[in-house]
This record gives sequence, structure tokens and C-alpha cells, in this order.
Amino acid sequence: MKIRDLGEFGLINRIAEKYYSTEGPVTLGIGDDASLLSPNVGMEIVTTTDMLVEDVHFTRVGTPAGDLGYKALAVNLSDLAAMGAKPIQAFISLAIPGDMKVEFIDLFYEGFMELANNELVLSGGDTVSSTGGLIVSVTLIGEVENGKALKRDSGTAGDKLYVSGNLGNSAGGLALLLDRFNCEDELKASSLVRSHNRPIPEIELGRFLVEKGLSSCAIDISDGLIQDLGHICRMSMTGATVDLEHIPMSRELIEIAALNGTDPLELALNGGEDYCLLFTVRANLVDTFNKALINARIRCFSIGYLTEGEVIVFTRSDRPVSMNPGKGHDHFRG
Ligand code: ADP
Ligand code: MG
Repeated sequence: MKIRDLGEFGLINRIAEKYYSTEGPVTLGIGDDASLLSPNVGMEIVTTTDMLVEDVHFTRVGTPAGDLGYKALAVNLSDLAAMGAKPIQAFISLAIPGDMKVEFIDLFYEGFMELANNELVLSGGDTVSSTGGLIVSVTLIGEVENGKALKRDSGTAGDKLYVSGNLGNSAGGLALLLDRFNCEDELKASSLVRSHNRPIPEIELGRFLVEKGLSSCAIDISDGLIQDLGHICRMSMTGATVDLEHIPMSRELIEIAALNGTDPLELALNGGEDYCLLFTVRANLVDTFNKALINARIRCFSIGYLTEGEVIVFTRSDRPVSMNPGKGHDHFRG
């Protein structure tokens, strides 16, 4: 069946029947003119929204419907993670081409709810027709303890810089999806493609940093390390030194990039869409932080530190290396 045959209200009813829920602070869900949220005392409300547009952010061939639903939530959860927030409720707005199969939207919602894992309430959205491709906009509401959010402007010269995981996998996966890279080894290739289609948002790490009071400054890496570190530096009015030998990269990325004559570091620094957290820890808290990481069995990678002045310097064996400045993603500059 096509969306055109089911109709707007048919589709909304179908979604509400499967996913209607009110839980915790959400007191009114899908079905009224708006939803109601009764905020928890002592918490600030955190709101984020992100849009995915067919043929700009994804293709229907490269990203199966379930992965698209998963990713639409993941990129938003990653923004909450970067604030140190926990999710409460989600809204999904869709502009759908009339000839799209209903099954595609069903699978989209299944992928979305799989990642939601009962940890947020789908509380509403909007449904309209599109004369072009599919457009998906997700809004999340979350909460964080008053005054404890991890902000981009809270870094200070001397803070150590950490990333939460391997960089460049998503860019490698995209290169494979676009046939810019070849790889005979299906298992290795699919691990990179999975990083691109099903990135893992770092909600637990964001909460850990807030609850332990070990960091006050974070950003999620959506546009590439260079660009996102640039945001922290600009807003914190600092520079940074990053040791290229400490940038974490997966074996798969290193191998596949080499096979395709590309420097994996280029993908790690400029690729984007890894959705790892980049965050700072005050120099005097580094020992406490390292112990807390071990106790919590969380792995993070120290890549450098913030500096006075406003330049970002990359080093290898303690020597400065010249780099192409920020070629991360910009929608209007291509
Ligand atoms: P209105 O005309 O007041 O905007 P709608 O008919 O668009 O109301 O929506 C009815 C209800 O269904 C609302 O609670 C809305 O939030 C919810 N809703 C609409 N589209 C979606 C969607 N794609 N996913 C989840 N909930 C939706
Ligand atoms: Mg509406």
C-alpha cells in the first residue's frame, strides 16, 4: 500500500496505535493538539532538533528505512548527550512523497523505536506530503540538572581534550556506500557502513560527565573533529594542541583507506558524522577522571589540550604539522 492510499490520518492512527504512551513526566501524548510535560524539579529542559533530507543527508538506496529511523534518532540523541542530558520525549515530523510505500514508514518507526528502547516517549509530530523526496525532522526534549549542562563555551586553557571513540569510520562507510571506496572484505566494509548508518549516541558518557562533575564542556562530532573543535575553541576563547598520533582510528578504517589510497587521518579529522563526544577535563581533575573511567569501564582517548591564544596546532612527536584548516561539512559551501 502507498502512503497516498492510507492518507494522513490513516498514517497518524497507525503510528498512535503502535506507539501511544504517556510515562514519567509526559502527561499527555499523541492525539491532542499538543503534548504535555510536567518537568522534574531541579532540572532544566533541553531541546534539540535535527533534519534529514533525502539526497542531501541520505539516499533511499544507501540507507535502508530501519537504519534511517535509527539514525534520525541517533543524531538527535547525540546532541542531548553533548549537553549531558537524558532524553524524555521525541517528536517526529515527516514530509512524505505520496507514492512511498507504507512499509517504508513502518520500518522507519521500528528503527527509531529500537534505539529509543523505552527510554523516551514518542509524544507527537506532524505529517505532510512532499513533492520531492522524504524529509524527516526529529525534535527531542530532555533534562539536565540545573546549571550542569555541558556547554561549548566552558573550556579553559590547560584543560585536557578527550574523544569518546574512533574517528573516521562514518566517513569511510559513506565512501563505501557512494562507491568511492572498494573493499572485498564484506565484514570489514559492513562495520564502517554500520558506523555511518547506525551511529551510537553517547548518552551514558554525557550523563557520567555531568553526574561526576568531571567536565563542563562538550560537543558531539557531527561535522568533523577540526570543525567541531573549532566551535569549542571559538566559544571558549582558547586555542588547542592536538597530537595526531593519539587520534583513535579503527583497524578497518586504516586498512580500507590504505587500500583506496586515502590517508585515514584525513577522514578522522574532517569526515564527520561519527557522533563521538569531544570534551574537556580540567587539568586538576584528570587523575580523578581517569580513575572514574576505569571504575565505570568507559574508554576515552586523550588527544591534546586547550591553550591560550586562538590557534589550533596539530603535532606529531611533539613537532607542529601543517594541516589544511577545517574542511568539515558545511551545507551551503558543499
Ligand atoms: P494538528 O492538526 O493539530 O497539527 P495533527 O492531525 O497533525 O494535529 O496530529 C494529530 C496528532 O498526531 C498530534 O498529537 C500530533 O502530534 C501527532 N502526530 C502527527 N504526525 C505524527 C507523526 N508523524 N509521528 C508521531 N505523531 C504524529
Ligand atoms: Mg499537524
